[in-house]
Amino acid sequence: MSSHDAEVIIVGAGPAGSIAAYELAIQGISVLILEKDTFPRYKVCGGGLTHKILTELPFSVEEVIENRINSVRFSHKFSSQFLRTSANPFIYCTMRDRLDALLLEKAVNAGAKVITGIQVTGIKQYPGSVEVITKSRNYTATLVIGSEGASSTISRAVGLYGDIAKGMAWEAEIEAEKDDIDTYAQTVFLDWGTFPGGYAWVFPKKDHFSIGVGGPASLSKWMMPYYYKFIESTGIRFKETRSIRSWPIPVKVKKGRFHNNLIMVTGDAAGLTDPMTGEGIYYAIRSGKFAASASADFLSGHSSSLQPFTDRVNDELMTELLEANRIQYIFNTIPLKIHQLVRDNDRVWNGFGKVLRGERNYKDVHTALGKWKSLWKLAVSISKLRVKLKAIRYKKRGSQVNHQDPPV
Ligand SMILES: Cc1cc2nc3c(=O)[nH]c(=O)nc-3n(C[C@H](O)[C@H](O)[C@H](O)COP(=O)(O)OP(=O)(O)OC[C@H]3O[C@@H](n4cnc5c(N)ncnc54)[C@H](O)[C@@H]3O)c2cc1C
Repeated sequence: MSSHDAEVIIVGAGPAGSIAAYELAIQGISVLILEKDTFPRYKVCGGGLTHKILTELPFSVEEVIENRINSVRFSHKFSSQFLRTSANPFIYCTMRDRLDALLLEKAVNAGAKVITGIQVTGIKQYPGSVEVITKSRNYTATLVIGSEGASSTISRAVGLYGDIAKGMAWEAEIEAEKDDIDTYAQTVFLDWGTFPGGYAWVFPKKDHFSIGVGGPASLSKWMMPYYYKFIESTGIRFKETRSIRSWPIPVKVKKGRFHNNLIMVTGDAAGLTDPMTGEGIYYAIRSGKFAASASADFLSGHSSSLQPFTDRVNDELMTELLEANRIQYIFNTIPLKIHQLVRDNDRVWNGFGKVLRGERNYKDVHTALGKWKSLWKLAVSISKLRVKLKAIRYKKRGSQVNHQDPPV
């Protein structure tokens, strides 16, 4: 009988941690989650689940879905607005306090143990075991999965926090006139093109709207002015703001290692977010599942290391995220052209919906370029340079931006 607290300790009970715990527990593997907050807890997040998540989840999350989205109202720098609608929903709106509480409950019902209100401060590896350090006491396990989100305590401690670009986003929960909540219950608002990598969204919830702006952390000075101008441009009759907060969005920009000996990192802690959209829940869930599968193989002796975890994250997630990064450079060079393409070209609009629904992926966008594919690499290199130069210009101008001024 092992003297460890569990075979696997998971740090953090976000989607990555709870799904990994659920997948391990249903196989009868002993798993302990250490979570710093007490649940339910607010999480700075749009709470938008793309359709492809539903097919990845091992159970239904129907009870926490507040709205189904099948329309997007696009705008470019607050103007040139148009509405695009699809027959099938492609985004499902949730509040993260309810979603995360449900995922954790599923893990616990499957047999995972959880201690909340406990903050992990460090980690030590020994031959055949890992020690997780907290202020109250230390815990040991054969394996540890770091799912602690953008704070990345574990990934930094074990040298797995490299090649991560810093994004950031603001999120507000705002009440509005009931008529507007009903009118826009199936519509997301999306504005883009204002500054390189910047975008803003409205997600309708059951009794309010979640509104956010995001982009590179280096251009954070643009975000508040952008936010104020954006909410004005939507025409929604907003009332009380319940909460407004910012949070980092880490974006891994190169393939790399996602494990160090007996430790794996998942989700935001590994920088697995989409550089185009900031979507991270899907990648948290998939990497959580991969970590559970690699743990089970290692513990049963089918695998002698956690290398298969790193390989899967690189092959199945990073390949896709790096393609999204390339598309992001092209988009940020010619945002108005892309905006017009989404408006005028049904193939482009349908392709957008299919990527969100998981029927297509970013790699297919590359394939669809057909005879233009050979020029793709060159176009990406030029775009990358142009976006970087543009970002430097915006950064300089950003230092003169008044917090309340709308961007120009
Ligand atoms: C403003 C904003 C809007 C977003 N909107 C969307 C969206 O609409 N759709 C989407 O897919 N993605 C969105 N994202 C990204 C998404 O929120 C993250 O990618 C996702 O939450 C990552 O899940 P995770 O499980 O890796 O980490 P998290 O959800 O961050 O969970 C980490 C958990 O670890 C706990 N923890 C942290 N440190 C410690 C510690 N030291 N010890 C113990 N516990 C710890 C935290 O309390 C937390 O519960 C958004 C992000 C931001 C900032």
